[in-house]
Amino acid sequence: MKNFRILTVSTILLFLLLIILDTTDGIALWWYGLLFMFWFLMMAIASFSMSWKFYLKSITSNKIVTDKKIALTFDDGPNSEFTLKVLQILKDYNAKATFFCIGQNIETYPEILRAIADGGHDIGNHSFSHDLMIDFNSTERWLQEIKQTDNSIHKITGKKTTLFRPPFGVTTPKLAKALKVTEHKVIGWNIRSFDTVINNPQKILKRITKRVHPGAIILLHDKQSNVLLFLEHLLQFLQDHDYQAVTINELLHEN
Ligand SMILES: [Zn+2]
Repeated sequence: MKNFRILTVSTILLFLLLIILDTTDGIALWWYGLLFMFWFLMMAIASFSMSWKFYLKSITSNKIVTDKKIALTFDDGPNSEFTLKVLQILKDYNAKATFFCIGQNIETYPEILRAIADGGHDIGNHSFSHDLMIDFNSTERWLQEIKQTDNSIHKITGKKTTLFRPPFGVTTPKLAKALKVTEHKVIGWNIRSFDTVINNPQKILKRITKRVHPGAIILLHDKQSNVLLFLEHLLQFLQDHDYQAVTINELLHEN
């Protein structure tokens, strides 16, 4: 949020400077256009870069933890085909994870959400609709999305979640305002698997294992088949290298 203010204030100051220069010497109109373009571009790039912490404070790793602990996070479930299989693999390796669930899917598959909770994993809020146009939401609409999903999680598991992950990892001033009201911790990641883009499970595995370090938060999805092809290998790698996969709440409480 601090960076957001710095950009806004500097843009206003530059705009005032242009007006002063314009009234004294007269400057070409495109200077204004250039300033506007710069401001617009920075705002757009910042929306997609959670680690900039531009509009809100987000957690992308635990930088101070020295124990070999990492957090696996699965987005976009519960999924009727893959989530239960993911849970079984995690159980086989005695690993805990965090599932950022979509409210709509929770309502459709409440029993799968219950299985996640029963497995001792964390559940996070990942909006209700995960709509493609969600980032154009008003603050009011965001509040609805977040509260509706929180209520579903609570109704089904009896637990309240304090974790939120923005759909598509995009943050905006309107979302920031809504999260100020709901007081969720915003959870990003610092290892992106690209498992929704890369088809080759070996490549996904290599991307992750190359980057693993204490305190890392790894972004995965439990909505497609390739998760079943690399997850076991990933957990085997973590076990061989004495890493423990823990929930986000556990990772954040580690100092
Ligand atoms: Zn998502």
